[in-house]
Amino acid sequence: MPQRFDVIVVGLGTMGSATCHQLAKRGLRVLGIEQFGIPHAQGAHHGYSRLIRKAYFEHPNYVALLQRAYALYDELEAVSGMKLLYRTGGLYMGTPEGEAVGGTLRSAREHSLPVERLDHAALKRRFPQFHLPADHEGVLEQDAGFLVPERVVATQCDQALRHGAEIHGMEAVKGWEADGAGVRVHTAEGEYHARNLVLTSGAWTDRLVRDLGVPLVVTRQVWGWVWPRKPELFALGRLPVWALDAPGVEGGVHYGLPMMTENPGFKVALHRAMTPTDPDRVARDPQPGDLETFRPMLREIVPDGDGPLLALRVCLYTNSPDKHFILDTHPAHPNVALACGFSGHGFKFSAVVGEIMADLAQHGKARLPIEFLGLKRFKK
Ligand SMILES: Cc1cc2nc3c(=O)[nH]c(=O)nc-3n(C[C@H](O)[C@H](O)[C@H](O)COP(=O)(O)OP(=O)(O)OC[C@H]3O[C@@H](n4cnc5c(N)ncnc54)[C@H](O)[C@@H]3O)c2cc1C
Repeated sequence: MPQRFDVIVVGLGTMGSATCHQLAKRGLRVLGIEQFGIPHAQGAHHGYSRLIRKAYFEHPNYVALLQRAYALYDELEAVSGMKLLYRTGGLYMGTPEGEAVGGTLRSAREHSLPVERLDHAALKRRFPQFHLPADHEGVLEQDAGFLVPERVVATQCDQALRHGAEIHGMEAVKGWEADGAGVRVHTAEGEYHARNLVLTSGAWTDRLVRDLGVPLVVTRQVWGWVWPRKPELFALGRLPVWALDAPGVEGGVHYGLPMMTENPGFKVALHRAMTPTDPDRVARDPQPGDLETFRPMLREIVPDGDGPLLALRVCLYTNSPDKHFILDTHPAHPNVALACGFSGHGFKFSAVVGEIMADLAQHGKARLPIEFLGLKRFKK
């Protein structure tokens, strides 16, 4: 006789771990299924750090979700005793018209968020790490910082288990069916039944939902850790997380983080969708051109950071057509909800997406404003 649950969650990475936590906290009978170990380094949640910031320039409606995410991380730290969020401040740099500076200022104004504007001279004085063109300015957001992704995923699963969730690692979901009576989920280990299904399957989403009608493009992304020439300038406490508009790369942003104990050196990367790939066949070893995504920028803009390479890693983005997330119920199955297409900027929303997906599974609608992330926007 197959086991029966209230909700089954497929994929216990960034969003699925949070969804299981929220559902279990509400007293629902939840089963979470993950194809790899928890956490793991094959998807989108490895690398020890993910930027988090509130003055979001990508779309003003994300700010309400971020306010809630911050509150949920504070709660999670308090109940678990784990340090998850480091408030280092966030420094955004570029020309005043660009996304990093102009967009952040616009978002801060619209949502009354405290930020400090730095003209070129002030930027140079306070942050000598950056050698910027004369037309560049900065904006500093005190509340920004980074999350430790492996710790967030592990802690959310740990809390879900403590609230009674059943979690299976190393078990891949092969398929599912849904009808008015509920859902059936198949793995190599067996069949499970539930009233609702939540798909938080990241780069593998299109294998489980073939009829979405929205292309999700998985891309191979790289980042590096380098040992700076002047380590004291890149220490945690001295360097905020930072982002710099990448000239000539549409929507591209160079970014970096201060040094942490988990990995020697400081982390640097380029945010923009890179090479399309298959999540099961992606080249995880260095490829020609990988280093060029950040080395020329370091040489020119951050010369004191332009030291020897320590590590180069690969991770996956799952890009939606407009680079905004998809949080919705399945068009043909109201008891199936999905969260996907995080397009390289989703981690910071993990806790709040968990709450939203729990709402969709439990009540069929979310309390927070998510219409702008619905599937209907692609049908216009
Ligand atoms: C290099 C890099 C840097 C980034 N930096 C930032 C940042 O600074 N700030 C930020 O906010 N975001 C950042 N992101 C984006 C963020 O990490 C992602 O948007 C987020 O992790 C996506 O979460 P997810 O739950 O969709 O995917 P994942 O965390 O990968 O989770 C999906 C899970 O589903 C599992 N799964 C899939 N199919 C099945 C199946 N059939 N059966 C069982 N399990 C299955 C997978 O194994 C995986 O564990 C970055 C991403 C990368 C790659």
